[in-house]
Amino acid sequence: MALIVQKYGGTSVANPERIKSLAARVARYKALGHQIVVVVSAMSGETNRLIALAKEIMPDPDPRELDVMVATGEQVTIGMTALALMELGIKAKSYTGSQVKILTDNSHTKARILSIDEHNIKQDLDDGYVVVVAGFQGVDADGNITTLGRGGSDTTGVALAAALKADECQIYTDVDGVYTTDPRVVPEARRLDKITFEEMLELASQGSKVLQIRSVEFAGKYKVKLRVLSSFEEEGDGTLITFEEENTMEQPVISGIAFNRDEAKITVLGVPDKPGIAYQILGPVAEANVDVDMIIQNTGADGTTDFTFTVHKNEMGKALSILRDKVQGHIGAREINGDDKIAKVSIVGVGMRSHVGIASQMFRTLAEEGINIQMISTSEIKIAVVVDEKYLELAVRVLHKAFELEAA
Ligand code: ADP
Ligand code: ASP
Ligand code: MG
Repeated sequence: MALIVQKYGGTSVANPERIKSLAARVARYKALGHQIVVVVSAMSGETNRLIALAKEIMPDPDPRELDVMVATGEQVTIGMTALALMELGIKAKSYTGSQVKILTDNSHTKARILSIDEHNIKQDLDDGYVVVVAGFQGVDADGNITTLGRGGSDTTGVALAAALKADECQIYTDVDGVYTTDPRVVPEARRLDKITFEEMLELASQGSKVLQIRSVEFAGKYKVKLRVLSSFEEEGDGTLITFEEENTMEQPVISGIAFNRDEAKITVLGVPDKPGIAYQILGPVAEANVDVDMIIQNTGADGTTDFTFTVHKNEMGKALSILRDKVQGHIGAREINGDDKIAKVSIVGVGMRSHVGIASQMFRTLAEEGINIQMISTSEIKIAVVVDEKYLELAVRVLHKAFELEAA
């Protein structure tokens, strides 16, 4: 007997038929004697619909109230899922995030899980119930409803698996595993039987939305056995996220390509080249709870320099007004520009550690297509570039080919 957490994403609960098919799978696992916790997302499109509704009333919605609204999507699907299980004669019980007590911090719309009270769930499992938990949501110490950021149901699933010390966390989605890149952009993309945790972490952090980054972080921290599978197929083992240190000499140099259309670039031009400037620019941005990703500062010429960084597109306006109101005059910057027509493409692979020339191969491939690189950042197992968003798909396709990632 095993304890398994199964997470189902939006397309896997898109309508009553899909929910019935989910229930049938759960019934099969239950019949084998396993204990099952199901985590569900909202029906596909529902979270977007709720956000759009909020924006019709307040263009930049108050985050607390936005969370109150968007959390309803998952409340509908937990009820439906529990009903579908009952219809199959299975004892089932649903919980919202706050009913479980998935305690989070109070950063509305991107809250972090602090702790999970697994007591009631364990009791229910021991009493023979399938427990159905709402993904994506929690509650802060003051009882406010919070949400975990887009794609956050993955994190609910893995965090619950960690709290319950589950034997496996299965992420059911609309693709049958993790691919070398998004198969919707590159049809030749190849499914990976397994991928190292480090690579998955980089791919997720660079924008592969097949798993939310925080879910991968949880899996790493608590060594959760994590697998990505299709909810549309009964066969297949999907992709296993592995933790073993494999011999990197035998690994392909590049395992996957991620991309991200959600970032915007902010450039602060003509800032004095002196100590403390980076802090004076990014300090107020961080205080406003805006996350910064890539950062570039040029070497100074004539005592001034340019400072460029990227933020989420949704937060470009906020970051620009902070910089223009609080920072520009103070540090004497000449100009501040925002550009949200950019995209980031990243190649990822642990094999990079033992191979040279990967960056130059990447840059040559892009140059041959006339694609200009606006920013570059690297880590031990990743090279990321920012390009004009109109070249994104072309860049991903040519890199996928250049690094021979397509199906054999
Ligand atoms: P869910 O609603 O089940 O959480 P998501 O839409 O969040 O599903 O994530 C699954 C999608 O992730 C796939 O449909 C695919 O388009 C996309 N994706 C991006 N990168 C990859 C990748 N490397 N491998 C597989 N899918 C990917
Ligand atoms: N429903 C939420 C979203 O659309 C959470 C999730 O799907 O994981 O982002
Ligand atoms: Mg998702």
